[in-house]
Amino acid sequence: MTHQADAYRIKAEPYYQAQGREVALFEAAYRNRLPVMVKGPTGCGKSRFVEYMAWKLGKPLITVACNEDMTASDLVGRYLLEGGGTRWLDGPLTTAARIGAICYLDEIVEARQDTTVVIHPLTDHRRVLPLDKKGELIEAHPDFQLVISYNPGYQSLMKDLKQSTKQRFAAFDFDYPEATLEATILATEAGVAPELAARLVQLGQTARNLKGHGLDEGISTRLMVYAAKLIRDGVDPADACRMALVRPITDDADIRATLDHAIDAIF
Ligand code: ADP
Repeated sequence: MTHQADAYRIKAEPYYQAQGREVALFEAAYRNRLPVMVKGPTGCGKSRFVEYMAWKLGKPLITVACNEDMTASDLVGRYLLEGGGTRWLDGPLTTAARIGAICYLDEIVEARQDTTVVIHPLTDHRRVLPLDKKGELIEAHPDFQLVISYNPGYQSLMKDLKQSTKQRFAAFDFDYPEATLEATILATEAGVAPELAARLVQLGQTARNLKGHGLDEGISTRLMVYAAKLIRDGVDPADACRMALVRPITDDADIRATLDHAIDAIF
């Protein structure tokens, strides 16, 4: 068990630039083993925060990228055919509950609601996980904690968490970091000069103002780190920005033209 837990432990401190009091607040949630929901647009630092917290708390981290084809068995486990018989294989949620890991279900809204409900008994006072197919009831390890991420931008009537799921979590609102912090993140993650990082941030903010006016989401910090890395590698800044910041996010000719102009004005 310890050996398995070690495999999921984060060895080196992940770089995480705090945006507010979230580190101390998460520690308080963990002390009380409250399930946590981290809300915010894609690429704004949610996963990095969870990795950092797992490292800081010294707990193993098991991450699951959720998708709509995911079934409860993908989380909990299943019998595999092996030789002439069958063998039970724990799913990631079961492993986390057994070894006392932080289980991070990334983009939980992508999962179907019948999949999501398997987390219910783990996220209230019971802290148990029934393995129906195996006829086993697992009591979560005292260190186990469930963390989910959620992008409110993708919310729709078809895809939303039920209130009965939402109301099991303490939540953090994340957003793109404020300009000076985001510039620090770019400079640190990509190793670019602060002055260049500041220009990228300025461009990102221009694009974020287009959200709701042709863009579904703003340019993420993740994409800005990509652009900074390309520039650091010697790519022409305008090419890097088009490739990393504009082309991935929209196919709309007008919005592309607006963003391309902004790039030419800034670089
Ligand atoms: P998501 O919100 O989609 O989980 P990530 O946590 O994967 O986003 O963040 C994307 C990238 O942005 C990270 O890999 C990291 O390079 C950078 N990043 C965003 N916010 C921060 C932060 N606060 N501290 C350090 N890096 C950050």
